Amino acid sequence: MIIDGKQIQIKKKNEIVSLIKDISAELKLVVIQVGDNSASNIYIKNKKKLCEEVGINFELLKYDSTSTSELVSVINKLNSDSSVTGILVQLPLPESIDKDVVINTISPLKDVDGLTTHNIGALFSGKEGLYPCTAMGIVSIFDEIGYDLEGSNVVVVGRSKLVGLPASGLLLKKNATVTLCHSKTKNLKEVTSKADVLVVAVGKEKLITSNHVKNGAIVIDVGINRTEKGLCGDCDFDNILNKCKAITPVPGGVGPLTVVYLLNNIVKAYKLQNKE
Ligand code: NAD
Repeated sequence: MIIDGKQIQIKKKNEIVSLIKDISAELKLVVIQVGDNSASNIYIKNKKKLCEEVGINFELLKYDSTSTSELVSVINKLNSDSSVTGILVQLPLPESIDKDVVINTISPLKDVDGLTTHNIGALFSGKEGLYPCTAMGIVSIFDEIGYDLEGSNVVVVGRSKLVGLPASGLLLKKNATVTLCHSKTKNLKEVTSKADVLVVAVGKEKLITSNHVKNGAIVIDVGINRTEKGLCGDCDFDNILNKCKAITPVPGGVGPLTVVYLLNNIVKAYKLQNKE
């Protein structure tokens, strides 16, 4: 089975539209971008489009160049602006800016990317909070395909704060037995080939071949790599397809879920701010 992220996105988007209808206030997302990274431009365009489709106001604050202190002051103003529901700093930021300081200036209640230390702590301590959108999207796939993660042997490859680490936390919450691999893992193939569910978020084309995958496994390919032939994931899709039970394609798998879970987080942020 090829998992159709676009279909899941449409279903989730409809759910969000009805949640928004029940909210009397206007919701607003503010995205902060520094520089003109071409991939960031595409991601921001997609976020804006989806926000507009569901009736969430969208504002982009774009800077050619700026400093950590200027961003901190902008974010502090947005934190106290009651018309702003969610704040998102588009990554990557230029090297000259202290990313951790900037991200952690965002109020945890407006941190719709779920990247503040507060929200990462909330995720791993089982507390209510805003969790990273890609990780939320990954976990939603299992509900959609009717796969019970409890007791399942899940291997996550990649331990970034954005994807791998929060995905492992959310999968653990679903009572999966989770192994988290990274660049220093020895004998990756030995670990991944035992997985019932394999989640790969690295950013290396064809890192995962058919030999890395157990017969009948579910493979979630999060990677996005730009090649001469277009976008591809981290998995050798054509060779894995016949071996696995289900796999996400790139593009059209996890990507559409990431952006729809951003909308979900904006609605959740509103509810947390208003204690609903
Ligand atoms: P990152 O560079 O922050 O992290 C990569 C991780 O891969 C690290 O933890 C590193 O230890 C691990 N790694 C590197 N080489 C490895 C190897 N040979 N074996 C095992 N592990 C290895 O990247 P990220 O932000 O987590 O993103 C990962 C990929 O997912 C990228 O391709 C990114 O574009 C993509 N991504 C996709 C979405 C989506 O919506 N589909 C969202 C976010 C990121």
